[in-house]
Parts: sequence; C-alpha cells; structure tokens
Amino acid sequence: MFKKILIDFHAEIELPRNRFARDVEDQAYFLEQEAKDLTAFIRDHRSRDSYQINIIREYESVCSFCGYKEERDTDGTPVCCDKAIKEHEAQIKTADKAG
Ligand SMILES: [Zn+2]
Repeated sequence: MFKKILIDFHAEIELPRNRFARDVEDQAYFLEQEAKDLTAFIRDHRSRDSYQINIIREYESVCSFCGYKEERDTDGTPVCCDKAIKEHEAQIKTADKAG
C-alpha cells in the first residue's frame, strides 16, 4: 500500500552545545554563533567557500498559562485550560467592539 520515496534531503552537522545555556533560546543563539564562526572558517578554504552552516529554528505554539501545545476546537476556542478559554472569549469581545 505504501512505499517510501525520497522527496528531499538536507545535510546535518553537529556543533558543540553550550552546557551552561539558560534555556533553549540561549542555546539556539549559541549555536547560531558557532555556525557563523564555522561558516567563516570554511570560507577561508576557497574551494569550499560556497558552503554555509544554517541553524534551523523550530517553533511550536504553546499556551502561556498551562504550557500545553496549542490545540483548538472547530470554532477556534482553545481546549487546554480555562484561562486560555477566558482570554480567547475576551479577545472575541474586544474584536467585536472594534469591528
Ligand atoms: Zn492552557
């Protein structure tokens, strides 16, 4: 029924991680600096000067109240917690007044 087909590819490189990073944002910033440094280092070798190291950030939308991943029911109301639902309702009221 299903078969695996190759549709795209990317290179992977491991860079040293900052063990003292405060959080993921701090860690990402550190890696971006490492990537810049390595790209500059590679650029010095003229035969490989088109190589570039990129850090791809992945984001996920999470509730600022409970920390759960964003999930909404069919009418757009959050399903994770009461605070999110209340804020959503307040936003709708504000939008109604404005519009
Ligand atoms: Zn929530």
